[in-house]
Amino acid sequence: MEVIEKISEVKSFVHQIRTEGKSIGLVPTMGALHPGHISLVDQARKENDIVVCSIFVNPIQFNNPDDLKKYPRTMDKDLEMLKAAGCDMVFMPSVQEMYPEKINKEYDFGIMGGVMEGKFRPGHFNGVAIVVNLLFTIVEPHKAYFGEKDFQQMAIIRKMVELDGLDVKIVPCTIIREDNGLAMSSRNMRLSDEQRDIASVIFRVLKLAKEMALSHEVDQVQQWGIDEIKNSENIELEYFEIVNTYTLESFGTWMDVKSCTACIAAFVGGVRLIDNMKIF
Ligand code: AMP
Repeated sequence: MEVIEKISEVKSFVHQIRTEGKSIGLVPTMGALHPGHISLVDQARKENDIVVCSIFVNPIQFNNPDDLKKYPRTMDKDLEMLKAAGCDMVFMPSVQEMYPEKINKEYDFGIMGGVMEGKFRPGHFNGVAIVVNLLFTIVEPHKAYFGEKDFQQMAIIRKMVELDGLDVKIVPCTIIREDNGLAMSSRNMRLSDEQRDIASVIFRVLKLAKEMALSHEVDQVQQWGIDEIKNSENIELEYFEIVNTYTLESFGTWMDVKSCTACIAAFVGGVRLIDNMKIF
């Protein structure tokens, strides 16, 4: 497995691979890897000749400086895990390498960019879109793999690919969970065992919301979810919303949409957690 820090070296690696007519699958990450990330690498391994994983804690997508400072970094273990998963190349640039100067691009994602994460984390998706665009330009993947855990991020990336006219297939990958249902996340490292138990209410509420949708109206399910988390101890709800899976818009009745997804953001012990589940 090659580990590359310089963009110019990635470009020659990619040039060589492409001249040989081989396909490239990219898995962008911020490191502190767990089995959720590795499931993306596994899927990329099945579908491509060459698998590239990037590890870059992207400062411009953090709207909270404390979150950036506390973001876990476990580089040696990450590299071991990627090697074991059969990754061919890891791109781990410095901030200076990625942003020798400030990028002023402002994306307009419309409603999609303004709801849920967009509302509570201003500037976050612009930073995500900029870095993913940069990674796509550098690595030139045929396919790129993203987790459904970051449901809204996936929609934003698809939109960015469309807006910028890029030729990359975005492949969604299912959410990998702990035994208690908690969606795996690098941020879970900052939770105690007790806090992990508390956080498992998120998955229980999503699962029950999906069941309730069979016999209740949209606003009833939404209100029930909000109350359920608000009434739980040591967890602070930021939002619980049921949205159109494709447009991320709110809607009135189940008949209004072809598919919808329940999304939650909540804090446990100062750690911000997100999760979602497709209702239908
Ligand atoms: P991150 O390092 O948190 O930016 O995540 C890198 C990629 O891994 C993103 O596409 C995430 O959606 C995906 N990912 C993170 N956690 C999980 C999980 N529990 N299951 C599946 N994919 C995940």
